[in-house]
Amino acid sequence: MKILVINSGSSSIKFQLLDMEGETVLASGLVERIGEPTGLLKCVLWPGSVDEVVVKQQESIADHRSGMLEVVRLLTDGANGAVRSREEIRAIGHRVVHGGEDFHEPIVIDDKVVSAIENNIALAPLHNPANLDGIQVLRELFPGVTQVAVFDTAFHQSIPDRAFIYALPYEMYEKYRIRRYGFHGTSHQYVARECAVLLGKPLQECNLITIHLGNGCSMTAIENGRSIDTTLGMTPLEGLVMGTRSGDIDPAIHAFLHRNCGMDIEAIDHVLNKESGLKGICSMNDMRDIHAEIAAGNDRARLALDVQTYRNRKYIGAYMAVLGRVDALVFTAGIGENDPVVRARSVAGLACLGIELDQEKNKKRGGPATLISSSNSRVQVWIIPTNEELAIARETASVLNKPLQ
Ligand code: AMP
Repeated sequence: MKILVINSGSSSIKFQLLDMEGETVLASGLVERIGEPTGLLKCVLWPGSVDEVVVKQQESIADHRSGMLEVVRLLTDGANGAVRSREEIRAIGHRVVHGGEDFHEPIVIDDKVVSAIENNIALAPLHNPANLDGIQVLRELFPGVTQVAVFDTAFHQSIPDRAFIYALPYEMYEKYRIRRYGFHGTSHQYVARECAVLLGKPLQECNLITIHLGNGCSMTAIENGRSIDTTLGMTPLEGLVMGTRSGDIDPAIHAFLHRNCGMDIEAIDHVLNKESGLKGICSMNDMRDIHAEIAAGNDRARLALDVQTYRNRKYIGAYMAVLGRVDALVFTAGIGENDPVVRARSVAGLACLGIELDQEKNKKRGGPATLISSSNSRVQVWIIPTNEELAIARETASVLNKPLQ
């Protein structure tokens, strides 16, 4: 069964075509700078195989529809295409950022689902409209093919009210749905499932702390396989220190910036999302650059690393307290999978909580899942590569295989 996975952003579309027998990637790529004078389409057919073909096209791509038409043409292109015809694509899985309180699992897209995603636009004004663009175009290009929405928020719908309610007037939740939703759910759920297999236990018996450290960062407390707390909040801004996002700050800073620094709400929003985090502290948001600058004696780079890893450690401690018993910590995503220094500093001094790394094993960068805790460590520590495309494809396949209600 072949499944196409789509992650449609405001000016880009990421795609991956998978054959679910053997879970092989037949093609993957990206359409970038949609609507700009020069767009870019990159597609790798048969990646990693001897037949690998890399296609790069630089041309104007007016909108999502023409970008997707070009992708479909490449995927079905005669002898070179990953499939012979569109008909071979059995289903399409869409990443949707915000499902609000409406969705706690993936769902087949119909008009009702589309309007529910529309209703959540206020909660994700940048992401949901772009996701909807992708859905609309693909429904048009593949009429009759099952399309499934997989929500970034869905895994966190099991969080209890004591963890999702903000201490604001309760009407703000009732009227405006202001609450913690959490994001990166597909990634947290995917690595949790992988971890359960590695621990040799059913997921329903696993207590885990999953730590997604990429450009966006979040941590989730998982009790008996279910998310019970997570650091991202109503929007993907709360919690850990990210590449360009601040994470936790005193909410009164907004008013201070407005009253004393002449900033309007748009400017404040921009600073907190795009000019803060690691970048705010040291002007760099790529951890590889930050390490290079620390080696060259840059004290701001040192501070950025300190602030991020201190925040990570603080939340690991908090989630240990929330969970009581923890089987494993899991590091994932760009930094989590590749950065021994960040991992070591995020758990430094936590031997008192039963967390100890094996310094040799922790030197690992990338590659398959690896146990990096010492044999004395009460809590296992794992690096598990995330794979959101595969997770979406698996979810899509599982929705197809569900018996009709
Ligand atoms: P992601 O959002 O998961 O793609 O992660 C992207 C981030 O991962 C980059 O901005 C880098 O900060 C970080 N990253 C990627 N590769 C490495 C590496 N080898 N060492 C340290 N950080 C890395």
